[in-house]
Amino acid sequence: MGRVFVAGSINMDVVATADRHPRVGETVAGRQVLYFPGGKGANQAVAAARLEAPTTLIGRLGKDAFGAELRAFLDSQGVDLGSVRETPEAHTGTAIITVAETDNTIVVIPGSNALVSAEDVAAVPLAKGDVAVSQFEIPLPTIAAFFARAREAGAKTLLNPAPAQKMSGELLGLVDILVLNETELGLLADIELTDNDPYDRIADAARHIRVNRDQIICVTLGKRGVIALVDDRLMSIQGRNVTPVDTTGAGDCFVGAVAALLADGQPIESALGYANVAASVSVQRMGAAPSMPTIAEVSAALR
Ligand code: ATP
Repeated sequence: MGRVFVAGSINMDVVATADRHPRVGETVAGRQVLYFPGGKGANQAVAAARLEAPTTLIGRLGKDAFGAELRAFLDSQGVDLGSVRETPEAHTGTAIITVAETDNTIVVIPGSNALVSAEDVAAVPLAKGDVAVSQFEIPLPTIAAFFARAREAGAKTLLNPAPAQKMSGELLGLVDILVLNETELGLLADIELTDNDPYDRIADAARHIRVNRDQIICVTLGKRGVIALVDDRLMSIQGRNVTPVDTTGAGDCFVGAVAALLADGQPIESALGYANVAASVSVQRMGAAPSMPTIAEVSAALR
């Protein structure tokens, strides 16, 4: 069985709830303040670890109280933190989220995540059968260095290019499996896409960005499920009919689950099907990392 290595962000999400948002320059009394572990790297690592994949996270935390709390949380989830460095030069990545009525505003301060470097990924013991996973909340040159090492070691590379950002042809060329939503695909393909667009239009955009026939492009479409280009085939997996409570982190759950199954040696078709079920379980629960399902919970959903 291979190992999942996730190079990515670790954040503390600080959520303030209030009856309404303050206007610029105004102060309003809030109702509650809540603290949630977050960051796409951490969420995806927790998703893989809860599905019992041996999982190592590569990242950076500040030397502060949030850093200590996040380390304790990730450790409790079975994520190996041997490659998470503590950095005194920056505070732990933090997202300040204000929720009022049905809207939210978010300010993300990358902090220590911006310091994850090519040096941090240089010593990672990647091997054949492993899966190297990353997203766009750490510097892109670090991701390129990580994937180049993974390729040399015979490991698979899985990129979730979120939050949406353009990337170089060099980085895209290092990706074996690209998992992205319609907004991210639209940006990379230079067209506007919505998750209600017909499959053909989405598939054309996926074909347009694919660097070669071996690259797998998997587009997540929320409640519609997933479509994927695998060799010359277009696979479509229907979304499961569930009642969502909170879809935050659905994409991260999907990515972590695909990585876990691939590290276990499963074929991509099975990995995508399983991840679609795992993500449908996660949307029925609150939060991102706390909503990631275990193997028993995914099995129960399949019964
Ligand atoms: P986020 O940024 O909130 O994590 P995303 O846009 O990256 O979301 P989505 O495409 O919304 O990711 O969701 C990822 C996967 O989660 C979907 O492909 C599907 O498998 C599952 N999913 C999401 N929403 C639902 C839903 N309402 N019902 C069933 N499954 C869902």
